[in-house]
Amino acid sequence: MSLTGLQVKDLFMKLNEVMAKNKEYLTTLDATIGDGDHGLNLNKGFTAVVDKIKDEDGNNIGDMLKKVGMALVSNVGGASGPLYGTAFMKAAVDVNGKSQVDLKDFRNMLQSALEGIKMRGKAELDDKTMVDSIEPALNQLKKSIDEGDNAVDALFKVKEAAYNGVEHTKTIIAKKGRASYLGDRSIGHQDPGATSSALILETIYEYVKSQT
Ligand code: ADP
Ligand code: MG
Repeated sequence: MSLTGLQVKDLFMKLNEVMAKNKEYLTTLDATIGDGDHGLNLNKGFTAVVDKIKDEDGNNIGDMLKKVGMALVSNVGGASGPLYGTAFMKAAVDVNGKSQVDLKDFRNMLQSALEGIKMRGKAELDDKTMVDSIEPALNQLKKSIDEGDNAVDALFKVKEAAYNGVEHTKTIIAKKGRASYLGDRSIGHQDPGATSSALILETIYEYVKSQT
């Protein structure tokens, strides 16, 4: 199973809808341990993404993802904009010139995205950030590819791993970002960025399933 460039573009339309639908939810999570703008930030960011890629013909997925990253960096005020922006720009390099992406491309892209986020934000696993859902998701994706899972099964397990990571963020102290100002008081609350990352991975799963 692979996605064409036009399907990837369509997936960004879905991501925009998902971020609009979860605007309040993500903002409420961020209000508890941050400044209450994560949902607003991502809604604004993905609205800009959709506008930026509206004329894409899908022939170069790398180019499209570069535009996605740039739209996020320049339209999102919070920490998450540059972090997600870097993630998409790094993933773009792996599929430069490609008009289709398969599960192995996606593994390379997720790996590059995670490396970009870690490089930019200096967060590691267990710092209670988006890394805590993306890293377990990537590890699961590698395992699924090694074990020969089909794309839908693999992506289901990947989004489950991401949500397990979100649950884990409830048990740890924030070491990066605004939530780190709370110290111990951040325990018991789930990280908004880990949650939005899991939502993105869930949307990818739902999209690929709908196209199969
Ligand atoms: P801000 O914190 O500037 O208001 P957002 O509310 O949009 O930005 O995003 C907050 C999320 O960003 C956090 O929940 C966390 O997952 C993520 N985050 C913050 N700092 C870092 C970092 N240094 N590395 C990785 N992720 C981070
Ligand atoms: Mg915030």
